[in-house]
Amino acid sequence: MPEGHTLARIAGALDAAFAGNEVHVSSPQGRFAAGAELLDGGVVREARSHGKQLFVEVEPPGSPEPRVLHVHLGLIGTFTIDEVAFVGEKPVVGQVRCRIEGEGHVADLRGPMVCAVITPEEEASIRDRLGPDPLREESGERGWERVTRSRKEVAALLMDQSVVAGIGNVYRCEVLFRHRVDPATPGRALARETWEAIWADLRRLMPLGVVTGRIVTREDQVEVVEGAMAKGETPHLTERTSYVYRRTGEPCRVCGTPVSMRDLAGRKLYWCTVCQTGT
Ligand SMILES: [Zn+2]
Repeated sequence: MPEGHTLARIAGALDAAFAGNEVHVSSPQGRFAAGAELLDGGVVREARSHGKQLFVEVEPPGSPEPRVLHVHLGLIGTFTIDEVAFVGEKPVVGQVRCRIEGEGHVADLRGPMVCAVITPEEEASIRDRLGPDPLREESGERGWERVTRSRKEVAALLMDQSVVAGIGNVYRCEVLFRHRVDPATPGRALARETWEAIWADLRRLMPLGVVTGRIVTREDQVEVVEGAMAKGETPHLTERTSYVYRRTGEPCRVCGTPVSMRDLAGRKLYWCTVCQTGT
């Protein structure tokens, strides 16, 4: 499932392509025809993400009341944004739920879990239910308030979008390893310093995901990307690797113990039983 950095990238690309432009909105597949009609001919004000939720604010034609296109990609959804020389240049391929066309760009949404037109008030109420997004908010305090009151395992809490918005399985597993935290630690047994270190780390790691389009968590690679970004260069990563994610049975990169895997709330949790004993 796309994690928060992917949605932030899509929001940035949609904003760069369409903000301030009048757009043609359609549903080539037909399932979003009524919603598309509400937005068609409107002017895009802004595209923004909060965790895994995407919102595109549009001023519809002849109406001062903005409408918001709300998208959640779910497990298989994609939103691709391409440059085109002229409107109508790009043929529709596959099941396109929603197409946005503007001057020079076309964006196609396929297979989303949610694609709906909502009001700004409805957007606000969706966002009120979400935890803080490390890509948007400096403080993880709202997340901590939920964590420290919960008996649930920290590994489950990190995946709960009302605790932290935008974290999926990869960041969850990797950040717990980076801080050597036992994933079974109940939220209320987690030390405040540990939470603050995890939050600060997500604030450091997730922007690298926005820049590279990949989840970068191994410290050597994190440093490569940060070094390139500091010089204004495009980072080149040769390997796509993790500390523990999808490495069941392979040796831990720190201690050599085979990486463990178990099912937690329907998602695979990967961790090192030797390294990760902290709370
Ligand atoms: Zn280890």
